[in-house]
Amino acid sequence: MGLKNSLQRVYICSAAYDDRLDEVVEKILEVFPRERKDRLILVKPNILGPHAPEKAVTTHPMLVKSVVRVLEKKGARVIVGDNPGMGGYGKALHSARKCGVLECAGQCFVNLGHNPVRKDIHSKYFSQATISREVLEADEVINLPKLKTHSLTVLTGAVKNTFGYVVGADKMYLHASCPSAADFARGLLDIYQVRPPELNIMDAVLAMQGNGPSNGTPVYLNRILASDNAVSLDAAATHMLGIRPSQVPHLDFAGKMGLGETDPEKMNIKGSLEKIPGFKFPGTFIPGITGLVLNRYLSRWANCLPEVVSSRCISCGICAGHCPVGAMSMSSSGPVLDRDKCINCYCCQEMCPEDAIRLSGRFLRLLGRGSRRE
Ligand code: SF4
Ligand code: SF4
Repeated sequence: MGLKNSLQRVYICSAAYDDRLDEVVEKILEVFPRERKDRLILVKPNILGPHAPEKAVTTHPMLVKSVVRVLEKKGARVIVGDNPGMGGYGKALHSARKCGVLECAGQCFVNLGHNPVRKDIHSKYFSQATISREVLEADEVINLPKLKTHSLTVLTGAVKNTFGYVVGADKMYLHASCPSAADFARGLLDIYQVRPPELNIMDAVLAMQGNGPSNGTPVYLNRILASDNAVSLDAAATHMLGIRPSQVPHLDFAGKMGLGETDPEKMNIKGSLEKIPGFKFPGTFIPGITGLVLNRYLSRWANCLPEVVSSRCISCGICAGHCPVGAMSMSSSGPVLDRDKCINCYCCQEMCPEDAIRLSGRFLRLLGRGSRRE
C-alpha cells in the first residue's frame, strides 16, 4: 500500500546485491504506485565512467537489473541510459560495458547522447541546454543515483544525478557558466527542474565516502532509499550521514525554493533514519559554522586548487580535455594549471582515471588537510 500523500515520502530499507533485490524493488513500486503498464519508463543510473561495480562510482548493475526485470513484469516499456562524462564524451557504451550496466540492461540500453534536443532553460546562468530527448519524452523517469560524496557538491545523490540529462560536452559549458559552488548549485537545480524524476531509488548498499565522486573509498551501508521527491530523498540521506541539508548548497537552495521538504520531522519516513557513525566527507568539506562562513563569504579565498601528483600521473590529458575554462593544459612534462583561470569546479579531479589530482586550499593547508589524505 502507498504511503500517506500529505507529506513527502521517503522509504528506507536494508538491502544487499543478492537475489532478494527484486523483492525490494517490488516493494518500492508498491509504496510509490503509478500506472506502469505500456508506459515508456526511462531508468537513469549513474554511469559516471568506465569503473568496475566494486569501486562504488556507478550504480550497481544488479540494482539496474532488478528494476528492469520488475518493470518489465509489470508490462512497462523500459529504456536504460545515462550521459557519462568520464573518459571522453560520447563513450557511453564503453562506460556502460565496464560498469556492468550494459549487460544488465540488455536490449533496454539506449545511448542517451544520440537524440539531443536544445531546450530553453529558465536560468540566470544559461538560456539553453542540450538535453536527451528520452528524458523529455518518457512517461516516467526512474532515477537510480549512487550515494557518494562529491568534492564540489558535497553529495552526489538524486538531484545531482539529473545533471546527466545534459548531453556530452554541454556539461562543460554549463560548468563554465556557473563559476562558483553556489552558482553551480543553482544551475544544477535549473537542470533538475527540466524533468524532476517521478521516482528515485538510491543505491546505498555500497556507497562512497571520502574524496568522491570517483576517487573516494567504497563503504557498505547496506541500504536502499526511495522517494518520489529527489530533494527529500537527498535530505534524508544527509541526515543519515550526520550532516544537515543546509550544508549541501543545492539542497539548501532547493529547500528554500520549495522544491522538496528537507526537514525529516516533516517527511513521511518509512524505515530507519538511524545515523551512520564516522562517515567521511571530502577533504574540501569543512563542517559546522566555519564551513558555512567559508562557503558563503570567503569561498574565493578558501577554495581548493587542483594539484597534480606527478608520481601517479600518466599524462593522458583527460583532465585538460574536461576543464571547462581551459585552466588545465598539457605540456611536455604533464598537466599545467593556470591558477587565475581555475573556477574550482574539480571536474579535472573527477575525471582523472589515476587519482592523480589532489585538492589543496589555503584553509585546508592551515588545517593540514588535502583531498587525498582523508
Ligand atoms: S592528472 Fe590524471 S587526468 Fe590529468 S594527465 Fe595526469 S593522469 Fe591524466
Ligand atoms: S583546472 Fe580543474 S578545477 Fe580548475 S577549472 Fe579546470 S577542471 Fe575545474
